[in-house]
Amino acid sequence: MVRVRIAPSPTGDPHIGTAYMALFNYAYAQKHQGEFIIRIEDTDRTRFRKNAEKELLECLHWLGITWSEGPDKGGPYGPYHQSQRLEIYQKHMDILLQEKKAYRCFCSSQRLEELRKSQMAQKIPPGYDRRCRDLPFEESEKRKQEPHTIRLKVPLTGKISFHDGLRGLIEFDAHGIDDQILMKSDGFPTYHFANVVDDHLMMISHVVRGEEWISSTPKHILLYQAFGWDIPEFTHLPLLRNTDKSKISKRKNPTSISYFKKRGILPEALLNFLALMGWSYGENQEIFSLSEMIKRFDLKDINLGGPIFDLEKLSWVNSQYLKKMSEEELVSKVQQELFSSEYLLQVIHLIRERMEKFEDFIPLTHYFFSGDINYTNVPLKNPDNVKTLKILQDITDILESLESWDEPTLNSSIEGYLTQNQLTRKDVYPLMRFAIMGVPDSPPIFSCLSVLGKEIVKRRIRLAIDFLKKRK
Ligand code: GLU
Repeated sequence: MVRVRIAPSPTGDPHIGTAYMALFNYAYAQKHQGEFIIRIEDTDRTRFRKNAEKELLECLHWLGITWSEGPDKGGPYGPYHQSQRLEIYQKHMDILLQEKKAYRCFCSSQRLEELRKSQMAQKIPPGYDRRCRDLPFEESEKRKQEPHTIRLKVPLTGKISFHDGLRGLIEFDAHGIDDQILMKSDGFPTYHFANVVDDHLMMISHVVRGEEWISSTPKHILLYQAFGWDIPEFTHLPLLRNTDKSKISKRKNPTSISYFKKRGILPEALLNFLALMGWSYGENQEIFSLSEMIKRFDLKDINLGGPIFDLEKLSWVNSQYLKKMSEEELVSKVQQELFSSEYLLQVIHLIRERMEKFEDFIPLTHYFFSGDINYTNVPLKNPDNVKTLKILQDITDILESLESWDEPTLNSSIEGYLTQNQLTRKDVYPLMRFAIMGVPDSPPIFSCLSVLGKEIVKRRIRLAIDFLKKRK
């Protein structure tokens, strides 16, 4: 029975890379009448973000991907949040400790920091020096109330290998692998430990994930071996890349699924586009539905060349779907996506005082409905381009770090920035209007930002930065 999963960590906006992994896992499960499940890996409490899980599940629903077990529906192998499985990890940890395949490490964080610094100074690869590895078991038991982590006893010599579905045999030298921390001092498991225990207990047959996890896989193999468990089949998919071939990043590309939803990309077109990233339908056919894909899909046909996440290609794919629609369907989609009553109410609220006739509506509000802005003819007093670029970059960083996107939060964070940097509103607000709205005059700026949404605002600032850099 094929059982596959995605195991996202709820740390940020719903990422396009997660949709990509979900699509290939889902297609594989469907092809083999298997199960596709979602597990939330939320043990890293420092990076946890409250709404991230909800937003991701909503986006996957919007895309039309379904799962048979998961945090919102439960299932026979739950709970599906790792934070609710701590007892399970503890129980498994005890087994490894008893069998001396893992050990308690009492080294303080200060000692580890000093060790790291001295290794850096000597230019030797950083890693734990295994001081606690051979502590007598009785002593370790006696001291178990003291703060400690638990580490894996990685063999000192030999090779660790596994078979990757796309790359064949991959081998690592054991001596290059650190004695991994499996359990942190707060009692939470690390990614490696929880991931392996759960994939085993949830009967995952195939682990299909991004290639950034290849270097973690030998650590996982050691854990499977330590427990004496069967090893699932691993397939590491190529990472999505920016047009300059670097790993996809939000600095260079919109990466949130919500952005594409908001920009009027159809879910079926986004899935079709993601499918083309690394797989081809054959017969030069680029437009195909999810069910057509499932019929032909096989993991081994994935192409390892780094797929380029090219927004122009995505627009083209989307346009092919629009062409297939009847005019009635198009009208209803435009109403639904662009002119929903909910969105119109937010926009009307901002401009009603300025509107004298209905015909004023479009000129007053076009930037709420259009895509990227053409800055060529937008007036901007810009005495100092370096300072301007710095302000726009600072604002991007501030907006990026916000936990919520509402007027008071936006207002207080930007006003705080002005005070800290002795800037006036005149230094910054016209610039923000230029970059985000493309007009010198608009309703209150934070109301506009709040209605436009984080993704569009960030993208427009980034494009304005690119434009100003070129104009300099
Ligand atoms: N929690 C990991 C992530 O955020 C899961 C990686 C895996 O699939 O093993 O992507």
